[in-house]
Amino acid sequence: MHLRLTDEQEMVRKTIRKFVEKELIPLENDVLRNEREGKPSLPEGKMEELQQKAEEAGFWGINTPAEYGGADLGQMMLAIVQMEVARTFVPFQFGGSADNILYYGNEQQKETYLIPTIQGEKKSCFAMTEPGAGSDTRNLRTTAVKDGSDWLINGEKTFITGGNEADFVMVIAVTNKELHQESQGRKGVTCFIADRSMGWESEYIHTMGEWGPAALIFDNVRVPEENILGEIDHGYDLGLEWIGFARWIVGARAVGAAERLLNMAIDYANERETFGKPIGERQAIQWQIADSAVEIEAAKWLVLNAAFTLDQGEDNRHYASMAKLYGANMGNNVIDRVLQIHGGMGYTRELPIERWYREARLWRIYDGTDEIQRLIISRNLLKGHVKIG
Ligand SMILES: Cc1cc2nc3c(=O)[nH]c(=O)nc-3n(C[C@H](O)[C@H](O)[C@H](O)COP(=O)(O)OP(=O)(O)OC[C@H]3O[C@@H](n4cnc5c(N)ncnc54)[C@H](O)[C@@H]3O)c2cc1C
Repeated sequence: MHLRLTDEQEMVRKTIRKFVEKELIPLENDVLRNEREGKPSLPEGKMEELQQKAEEAGFWGINTPAEYGGADLGQMMLAIVQMEVARTFVPFQFGGSADNILYYGNEQQKETYLIPTIQGEKKSCFAMTEPGAGSDTRNLRTTAVKDGSDWLINGEKTFITGGNEADFVMVIAVTNKELHQESQGRKGVTCFIADRSMGWESEYIHTMGEWGPAALIFDNVRVPEENILGEIDHGYDLGLEWIGFARWIVGARAVGAAERLLNMAIDYANERETFGKPIGERQAIQWQIADSAVEIEAAKWLVLNAAFTLDQGEDNRHYASMAKLYGANMGNNVIDRVLQIHGGMGYTRELPIERWYREARLWRIYDGTDEIQRLIISRNLLKGHVKIG
């Protein structure tokens, strides 16, 4: 057992940190200004420019298999990269990646959707949630009914990340109502790849964060049979895989943000004087800093464990839920303390803390709420799927 990053991992971490400090952090003021003026966080073309710079530094397709031109660095490296990039709120993503479930596509689907997504020519989104079915996917109502050699999709999806920008959606629809009910929602649904040009529409949903997901409307959207991703009636498994991947990444991002914010609080605690002393000399402040540092460290190990387990080819879902649950809550606790340590300044829009505070609240909700993660973890233990110790 080796509880340190390898030389290679350490080198990647340092390189990404340099990239974040040189290319992303200097954009933070512009991002804040744009968002406050109701404009997109980054001007058009800026993401592509940044992705190109990252590619020149060797970071493209971080987790994409080599046969698709990616670096295929593995999950541990992905965790390290995500923690580093989350040190800024500038909404940057490395180029050269695609949703994990698109790799299940047949050759034609890979050519039409997977490869253009990796190349940055097409944008995707994944749609499971509906107004009446979030945690409880047994209530899915969107249907796909066979019509000749096509399927007609009807229904509404909600809170779909990237749904306003996407060129195509991987949408989960009920294809066999009886099977869906009998199997408690685990079967009887199918994943369809539907191009925007096939007729679905999106509506922006305003949230307390700086970007909005979309409601997607399907009104007799005609999708050809060849656009079924995976097997008919087995779309739920794909859905779980899509959500499961994103889960522990939420924990990783919370670690990165919390580290940066705690550093801000430490600097402020050393500088800000009240009653003749820096506030950092008060136990009330010291304990907030200590608790935050301990929680960040704990979350980091949970995230690395989830990533390591996956790299071993093992089922990491239990650890992914732990990393997500603890990481998301840690992130919210730390940001709250950092805001408190900054006093009134923390509450202003002169500092980015309030922005992070609003964004962090989402971590406890999407990709499975806190309550659902607790349900998964406790069920695994109570049913003996996972043993303590
Ligand atoms: C910004 C944003 C982006 C999102 N992106 C996507 C996306 O790209 N694709 C997608 O498909 N979905 C997406 N979602 C949906 C997200 O995954 C759901 O909002 C989430 O799963 C919760 O579902 P819900 O909102 O319907 O809440 P509900 O399921 O109605 O839950 C309401 C409350 O009850 C609790 N609860 C529910 N069931 C139980 C239970 N059995 N025991 C105890 N408590 C319970 C929940 O934890 C929650 O606190 C996104 C959501 C948001 C806000």
